[in-house]
Amino acid sequence: RKTVWKLSTGSKELDSILDGGLESQSVTEFAGMFGSGKTQIMHQACVNLQCDDRIMIDDNIKDEILQKPLKAVYIDTEGTFRPERIVQMAEAIGIDGKDVLDNTFVARAYNSDMQMLFAEKIEDLIKEGHNIKLVVVDSLTSTFRNEYTGRGKLAERQQKLGRHMATLNKLADLYNCVVIVTNQVAARPDAFFGASEQAIGGHIVGHAATFRIFLRKAKGDKRVAKLYDSPHLPDAEAMFKITEKGVHD
Ligand code: ADP
Ligand code: MG
Repeated sequence: RKTVWKLSTGSKELDSILDGGLESQSVTEFAGMFGSGKTQIMHQACVNLQCDDRIMIDDNIKDEILQKPLKAVYIDTEGTFRPERIVQMAEAIGIDGKDVLDNTFVARAYNSDMQMLFAEKIEDLIKEGHNIKLVVVDSLTSTFRNEYTGRGKLAERQQKLGRHMATLNKLADLYNCVVIVTNQVAARPDAFFGASEQAIGGHIVGHAATFRIFLRKAKGDKRVAKLYDSPHLPDAEAMFKITEKGVHD
């Protein structure tokens, strides 16, 4: 196994329950209800990738990771990527928003086949010489949820979602990428943590994502993130904020 590196979420509290930040060679899932801040976290990660003091890399892999400009691929299945929000977040931390946009490939996926194909094509981009170190899928589950409705389609849906997750895990492992995905849940948090997990993809995502975080809205601009079921980190909660500046403590 190669040495992992970490990407800050923008919140030191959230980074700390993740033992330093979003970890490479893993898939990290952000679940939560509509408006909980999943897409904001995805945007902030793309911004942070271009900010030297928001990436933590051991000296022994520094040259390899930083050989060329760091790039992100953002697979957008809901049409919620906003370049102007990227610029706003970048300016808030004193970096060039255009630079972030130039280093972020945005792919709009209108269905699950496009989504899966885009994920498979990332390897080609890397082989062409793009130093892709962050992969975002926002949302991981919405196309599957829309297309495979009803009990009869459940097995096929889970199988395809499992294949998609395998593609993402392979990218993370082979190319030492940070992979982050979102998963919208309609259920209340207590139902989410209950025996009949209502998050679509529940088990498949659960077994394939190394880190799972549940986001919920608190008072005002405050958010609570709960890390759960991690293989080597304790369950823990972090408080952070989402404001015009972005994701921060
Ligand atoms: P979801 O979990 O559905 O993806 P989002 O990440 O889109 O949720 O979060 C939307 C919330 O983020 C808004 O309700 C608002 O609280 C906050 N937000 C989004 N953009 C801004 C902004 N420019 N300034 C301040 N807050 C923002
Ligand atoms: Mg969203």
